[in-house]
Amino acid sequence: MFLFRALFYLILTIVAISVLRGVLGFLARIFLNATVGPERRAGAPSKESLKPEALKKDPVCGTFVAPSTALTQERGGKMYFFCSKECRDKF
Ligand SMILES: [Zn+2]
Repeated sequence: MFLFRALFYLILTIVAISVLRGVLGFLARIFLNATVGPERRAGAPSKESLKPEALKKDPVCGTFVAPSTALTQERGGKMYFFCSKECRDKF
């Protein structure tokens, strides 16, 4: 009788462990989907907005500047980008 009960508890333990592993695997999948999923879905537009600008070289000091933040000066139909007002004035 004791052996039968021991066997019963052993099987119960194995079943409990396999169920627990299944639940943990399921939760892990949900967690991964929750963390990776939205990032992957939002990846395309955010990547587009985070696309690095083609940096322009300041012809005076040689510094590379982002066109969106740089000071500009048009000369001879060409647009020049400057890191500061001083550089633009020197140009
Ligand atoms: Zn400069």
